Amino acid sequence: MATSKAAYLAEKAIGHDDNAVTQQDVSSYPQSGADTMKALVWRGKQKVEIADVPKPQILEDTDVILKVTGSTVCGSDLHLYHGAVVQLADGDILGHEFCGVVELVGRAVNKVQVGKRYVASFQIACGDCFFCKQGLSSQCEKTNSNTAAKSLYGGRTAGIFGYSHLTGGFAGGQAELGEGRGTFEGVKGSKHLQGC
Ligand SMILES: [Zn+2]
Ligand SMILES: [Zn+2]
Repeated sequence: MATSKAAYLAEKAIGHDDNAVTQQDVSSYPQSGADTMKALVWRGKQKVEIADVPKPQILEDTDVILKVTGSTVCGSDLHLYHGAVVQLADGDILGHEFCGVVELVGRAVNKVQVGKRYVASFQIACGDCFFCKQGLSSQCEKTNSNTAAKSLYGGRTAGIFGYSHLTGGFAGGQAELGEGRGTFEGVKGSKHLQGC
């Protein structure tokens, strides 16, 4: 079995820390009827494909769902493609840079408006922790509970869209619909979801 997949199985066995304020490991969605979309998914080392996958769902009150109108392949996506980042799983949706038009917002979202265009940045931030309060939202300590990341590096980055379970396991934006997670409002210095 590929190292990346084995590492993810180990993480599942060890378990996450319990400090996350967002749901973890939502890199693909449970099947809900015939509601599917096209997305780029990771299948293994040097193997990706466009697949029909379940559409994202509002899972938490601070979630936002975007109809993606633009997405990029970043140089750092090559680390995933080459299998250099551990804890990818078969079917994970890739993509951490995207923009689009908001289709749906959770109940706690007031400023981000349905029908308007926004750019999502790669990191997912809580807006309230030690790092977020200083505007260092990429180091948010509440959106990624990955145990292996902490033991390997002594700390963790924030959760990141489409960038393996090592960064929280969130679905990416190389898809027809992307889901923004975490706090979109009141994150000082964050460009987490920015009007465009
Ligand atoms: Zn990037
Ligand atoms: Zn935070």
